[in-house]
Amino acid sequence: MRQLPALVDLIDGQTSAPTVALEDWLEDPNTGERLQRQMATDDAQIERALAAAWRVHQAGAWARLPPDERAGYLAALSAELDKRRERIAQLESSLTGAVIRTTRMLSVITTGAWLLAIEQMKTNGATSFMDGPNGHTVEIHRLPWGPALALVPWNAPAPMAAHKLANALAAGCPAILKASEWAPHGCDVFIEAAQAAGLPGGVLQVVHGGPQVGAKLVSDRRIRAVSYTGGTEGGRSIARACAEDFKPAQLELGGNNPMVVLEDADLDEAAQGVVNLLVSLNGQWCRALGRLIAHQDIAQELLTRALDRLSCIRLGDSLSEQSDMGPLIHSRHKAKVERQIAGLVARGGALHTSTPLPDLPGHFLAPTLVTGVPAGEATEEIFGPVATLHTFRSDEEALALANGTPYGLEAYVFTRDEPRGLALGRRIHAGGVKVNGSSMLSLNLFAPRPAWGWSGFAEEGTVETFRFFCGTRVVGVEGGAAR
Ligand code: NAD
Repeated sequence: MRQLPALVDLIDGQTSAPTVALEDWLEDPNTGERLQRQMATDDAQIERALAAAWRVHQAGAWARLPPDERAGYLAALSAELDKRRERIAQLESSLTGAVIRTTRMLSVITTGAWLLAIEQMKTNGATSFMDGPNGHTVEIHRLPWGPALALVPWNAPAPMAAHKLANALAAGCPAILKASEWAPHGCDVFIEAAQAAGLPGGVLQVVHGGPQVGAKLVSDRRIRAVSYTGGTEGGRSIARACAEDFKPAQLELGGNNPMVVLEDADLDEAAQGVVNLLVSLNGQWCRALGRLIAHQDIAQELLTRALDRLSCIRLGDSLSEQSDMGPLIHSRHKAKVERQIAGLVARGGALHTSTPLPDLPGHFLAPTLVTGVPAGEATEEIFGPVATLHTFRSDEEALALANGTPYGLEAYVFTRDEPRGLALGRRIHAGGVKVNGSSMLSLNLFAPRPAWGWSGFAEEGTVETFRFFCGTRVVGVEGGAAR
């Protein structure tokens, strides 16, 4: 059994232990053993955190620091996190089931986000100027909204928390992170790093708990902006709560992402795309494959080649460097994915798997392709390594299938004819469309990461997330206006 460190809150510069025991247990996804009770920060401590963030904001103690000084703190935080990168990767792999090679790769974001945010502070945070009337100058100020809340899911919590916190702090917002209740430990390492970097009390705070704690924070008037990544249901209730108080909400939600394979595609490349999009983060990834939409002439061959490749995937312990893929996070999540698979079978689905299961008692699920389900009955997100296969005869039919869900996060098109792939991609209802690509990387580090429909709004990105945490004020002299 792997030992987990005790959970820690950081409130107004002081560490303490969250005291409310929740019903659920954290499990070792590789063995299924219970590791630790989920814990939540109590109401009094949440109130202290909100009061501290508000005090820091009202006093301008963080926002009015000279930009170089703020940048110095953020650079120090990045350096302190860098010293702890391996520990964060190990903790995230231990709890989420994501394989260590992936969590190590993603830890580049955990440290790099702060450096990118410093650059945004210097460029997009600076006051800019325009010509005004009567020879005057108009000033455009980018100002922090006030205390910001970061809510992260469990699939890659530390990199996502770093992206949100770095930009909130760079914009001048004191920030509170509510760690994911299912994988909180990697984010707790931020506490040590913040303290080692000498961050003043109340600037960055970390609390724990589930949706109830999150909702309490969201609805508090002192929270002035909410950046949330998580499921669509949570996003909807956060949008409602933010609407009550007209506070900006950045919502990065779920997806049921289509991959369209045209008849002229390189089938080995497309099959590898299927594998990548089912295996990366164990399919527990918002941009993972949901629906494989293949031309009817090549669908069977594509399925055969994808299964051939999946048979070579090493499904195993998430902490082993030999594993290509790990287990699902939790027995409860595995049960939910299995119920969704059973639902597809009930709707006429036939299951296709080829990845050998390891001889381990954990929450392992072989990547699964499902044929025979009517497209209109395969629209839900399954947050796991499962995709349905649908066929088409014309590009128009492919487009209708690709656009056949209320989501709009990511889409993929495979073809040897790039102009044709791009033409199709430009008509898909999604925030991002990759032609002949299936990696976890963005097409460009500075490209926005938007979402349509049920996949969210207020796009994130290197520039966009920084700007999300800023309000704008325009100041200038008019002089000589008509009386
Ligand atoms: P989740 O919705 O259960 O929780 C996300 C976080 O929000 C957690 O910290 C949770 O405690 C909190 N939360 C949930 N409901 C809340 C509410 N009503 N008020 C306040 N806080 C609330 O999501 P999860 O199960 O941790 O993650 C899986 C989901 O996240 C999937 O749907 C996946 O697609 C989505 N996701 C989206 C992206 C993206 O960039 N679009 C990235 C990763 C994951």
